[in-house]
Amino acid sequence: MSIRTATVHIDLNALVDNYGIIKSMAPYSKVLAVLKANGYGHGLVRIAKALPQADAFGVARIEEALELRTAGVIKPIVLLEGVFDDADIAILAANNLQTIVHTNEQLNAILSADIDRPLKVWLKIDTGMHRLGIAPSQFNEFYSALSKSDNVHDDLVLMSHFSCADDLNNQTTSQQFAIFEQLTQQLSNPRSIANSAGICGWQQSHCDWIRPGLMLYGVSPLIGKSSQNIGLKPVMTLQSSVIAIQQVKKGETVGYGAAWQCQENTFIGVIAIGYGDGYPRHASNGTPVLLNGRRVPLAGRVSMDMITVDLGADCQDKIGDIATLWGAELPVEEVATYATTIPYELLCNITRRVKYI
Ligand SMILES: *Cc1c(COP(=O)(O)O)cnc(C)c1O
Repeated sequence: MSIRTATVHIDLNALVDNYGIIKSMAPYSKVLAVLKANGYGHGLVRIAKALPQADAFGVARIEEALELRTAGVIKPIVLLEGVFDDADIAILAANNLQTIVHTNEQLNAILSADIDRPLKVWLKIDTGMHRLGIAPSQFNEFYSALSKSDNVHDDLVLMSHFSCADDLNNQTTSQQFAIFEQLTQQLSNPRSIANSAGICGWQQSHCDWIRPGLMLYGVSPLIGKSSQNIGLKPVMTLQSSVIAIQQVKKGETVGYGAAWQCQENTFIGVIAIGYGDGYPRHASNGTPVLLNGRRVPLAGRVSMDMITVDLGADCQDKIGDIATLWGAELPVEEVATYATTIPYELLCNITRRVKYI
């Protein structure tokens, strides 16, 4: 007997195809491929090495950037939240890393740093998301300080971030873009505002640099549009195996809290995956799981190491059969809806014990 436990298959050909789709949507823009959170759970270095076409990579933490450098990645890398410590400035300079600036503290750290070559800086403007970025009223002050400093490379990139671009009917995106245009249109600096949803849904926002994350991994960034519809291919497939089959009778319950009750005599399949692997604990009864060419519904609460599914009274399934939790035939977007979350969270929550192929 040999039973496979939770396994993630990474399809790097799909990744490269998705990159091609993105390029065809924004042929005149450079691409900053976003690899934060371990490449959205796909593996930081693995994804970076599979994208030699990208113009730059974006990460959230300096540790991620240094991991890429250690692995031999020489492409430009941008810290998307900037530095968190003045001492990081010297590390940026030494490792040829670029940074976003969005606070006075970061500005001062850069202006006063003792470095022997200029840093490449991206100035982040808050156009309405109210998370990171300087207020439009601070723009002139930051722009002129950065432009004048010998510590800053001439190629200062001006950027912002959309809050609602996934919804094509939401007016916020146009309002944010108008604010961005008003501040930056007259300047010759490169500009960047589009994430995946901006790339797919808001062509006018592409500017000089696009910043795709989710799309690269084959997931739709737009509400009401499937990945298939956009031509994207899921890069991650999550699978595990049936480790037990239980016969249950009408009226009996399954799992913790007896949260699922059997309506008709049936068989319950136990699959070796749970929230300890990153399968969402809040996936509700009915969440689809692919098994032997059909969808079977989750029945009962997700445990740490197992889930239970209703196989039906006439099932032919056996111990050792492989189930797909999400992937090409079962979009992670759909599972996310059943778990009242977003695909981003499911992808980057895959845990250490899951084997990658
Ligand atoms: C994460 C991130 C992105 C990528 O967003 P997606 O929705 O995954 O495409 C782009 N820009 C910034 C600043 C980010 O933090």
